[in-house]
Amino acid sequence: MSNCDFTDCTVLSPFFSRRMQPISLLTVHCAAGRGTAAGLGELFRAKGKDASSNYGIGTDGSIGMYVPEDCASWCSSSGWNDQRAVTVEVCNSAGPAEGRYDWPVSEESWAALVRLVADVCRRNGKRRVVWLGSRDAALAYAGKNGGGSQRPDELVMTAHRWFAAKSCPGDYLYDRFGALEAEVNRMIASLEEDEMLTGEEIYRRLSEYLRALPAGDYAEEACRWGIKSGLFLDGDNDGLVDNPAGILTRQDLALVLMRQEERKDEQ
Ligand SMILES: [Zn+2]
Repeated sequence: MSNCDFTDCTVLSPFFSRRMQPISLLTVHCAAGRGTAAGLGELFRAKGKDASSNYGIGTDGSIGMYVPEDCASWCSSSGWNDQRAVTVEVCNSAGPAEGRYDWPVSEESWAALVRLVADVCRRNGKRRVVWLGSRDAALAYAGKNGGGSQRPDELVMTAHRWFAAKSCPGDYLYDRFGALEAEVNRMIASLEEDEMLTGEEIYRRLSEYLRALPAGDYAEEACRWGIKSGLFLDGDNDGLVDNPAGILTRQDLALVLMRQEERKDEQ
C-alpha cells in the first residue's frame, strides 16, 4: 500500500491501529484552529490527546502524513469508521464565531484537500468519491449494518459528527462536501484521461497534427516526382502528395522503396 508522495512533511504519530479492513471511506475533519501540517503533526505526537489522522492540511495548504495508509488512525470516535477510512484533518482559516460559517478553511487548504483526496483515490483504485448527504444514507450504502451497495471503486464520505457529539467538521466543510465530491471526481476523470493518452489516442493526435502541417519547400520536388511516378496520390490537385490518414510507418516506407525499385527495374 502506498502513501501520498507530495506531502510537505511526515510526522509519525504513535496513536494508530493495524488496519484490518480495506480502505472504503473518506473522513474529512476540521482541526478547529489555524496551523500548519507540521504543527498539527506535533499535536498528534503528544501524549494525552491520543489522537491522530492519516493526513493533515495546514491553513497554508501544506500537507502532512501522520499515520501511513496501511494503518488506521484514531480520528473519528468510531473504530468501524477509522478502520475503513482515510482520515484528513484540515486546519481552519478562522474560528467558529467569525463570518457566516463556523470553522471555514482557506482556499489553499481546499485546493490541497482536493488534490490529496484525488491522489488517495487513484492509488487505492477508487474512481470516485461519493457524498450521500446524510448519516443514514451513507452508512446504509457503505453497509455498516450489513448489506450495502457500495462499489469497490468508490470512496464513501463520512463525517465525525455522525459518531460523536461533536460539530466536526464544522458547518463550513460539511456544507461543502458535495462540492468536494464534484471537484475530486472531476480531477480523477481528468487524470484518467491523461493516463489514457497511450497507443491509439497518441497515434490519432499525432496523425492529425502531421496532416495539418504545410508541406515544406524541400518536399515539393519529391512530391512532384512521387505523383508523376504514380507512387502517391494528389486528390486535391495542388501538386503536393496527399498526407495519409496516419503516420508513415517503417512498413509503409519499405513498401514505397520496394515499389520504387520495382519501377526502376521495369524501366
Ligand atoms: Zn473530527
